[in-house]
Amino acid sequence: MIYLDNNATTQPSKEVVDAICAALNVDWANPSSSHFPGKKAANAVSVARSQVAGLISADPEKIVFCSGATEANEAVLRHHAKKCSTLITSAAEHPSICGYYDHYQYNTEIIQIDDSGLWNIDMLEFVLKKTQGSALVAFTWANGETGVLQNAEKICDLAKKHNARCLVDATQVVGRIPLDVSTLKADYLSFCAHKLHGPKGIGVLVQLTGQDPVIMAVGGGQEKARRGGTENVPGIVGLGTACKTRRENLKKDILHMKEMRDRFEQNVRRHLPDITINGEKVLRVPNTSSIMFPGVDGMALVARLEARDVICSQVSACSSMQPEPSPALLAMGLPRDDAFSSVRFAVSVNSIEAEIDTASDLIAEEVGFLREIMV
Ligand code: PLP
Repeated sequence: MIYLDNNATTQPSKEVVDAICAALNVDWANPSSSHFPGKKAANAVSVARSQVAGLISADPEKIVFCSGATEANEAVLRHHAKKCSTLITSAAEHPSICGYYDHYQYNTEIIQIDDSGLWNIDMLEFVLKKTQGSALVAFTWANGETGVLQNAEKICDLAKKHNARCLVDATQVVGRIPLDVSTLKADYLSFCAHKLHGPKGIGVLVQLTGQDPVIMAVGGGQEKARRGGTENVPGIVGLGTACKTRRENLKKDILHMKEMRDRFEQNVRRHLPDITINGEKVLRVPNTSSIMFPGVDGMALVARLEARDVICSQVSACSSMQPEPSPALLAMGLPRDDAFSSVRFAVSVNSIEAEIDTASDLIAEEVGFLREIMV
């Protein structure tokens, strides 16, 4: 199998699997217990907290472990909905943000994005002036479909200037670019382990400023009373190990992913010069490629590639059960047909040249086949 769906999830690394097994076999006591095995489990959680903080240059005290980015985003959105803040966001965000306002009819201002997928900063400033002091700005730092990176510093600075809170979903960014969130003027940052060769069902909400703290669950007061419930020690240890491994190899890993992604795009373009790479003109994370194949049904292409052991996808995994074009691509102004003709490929540190070359050859063959039967 040639796995090119690493923005949906990544394969857990050997280090992560070993660390999780050790946590299950050895550190299985309750970290809240005051006896020795409990303290040992609590120590494993504390080590993991520092490892997570280390990858993003955050203060470990600001980190709250939870079940993943969806829970983290939902908790912040719910907290601010209760305060009747206006949610300032765009239609291109991950469903864990867009789904919330769609479902709860949240008081929302939608910021337009341009044809590269970037937020309209003038419109953001205009809306922030209107909502002065009672808004939550929520955005996805790197879009999961195109990999396009928002100007996070600019958006956070503007939010701060207008006294709004700011939630940054960093799920597709962590471990893919060097990060120092200690200088970012965001209030909340979310991400999860499974995009980083860690396990599913574990992630964090980093409450960076401590302003407007979010209590995710009261329960027994774990996580300094910010998220009650017995800690998922194996998950936390798995996340910590994933962050430690990536931090130790960050430069090399980023370079490798970029080389693989660029090689892939060059190959596909050489075979099929009429493709468009969505968001190509602006900064993107180094592993992601969203390619529009004119005149090709993207869903059919994904299925035919799967039959040849190349795994990719059309939209974010959370919305892939809906036969609808990607809302993120539509928000960028792509016509519906072009959005339907777009397919997402995402490499990882495990991708190798031979796979990239085989995958691009097979893509060219399958696109050729689909074009032939469609005329
Ligand atoms: N945010 C973004 C940008 C994502 O890509 C994803 C996963 O696809 C999520 C949030 C959801 O993360 P989780 O699976 O941890 O809930």
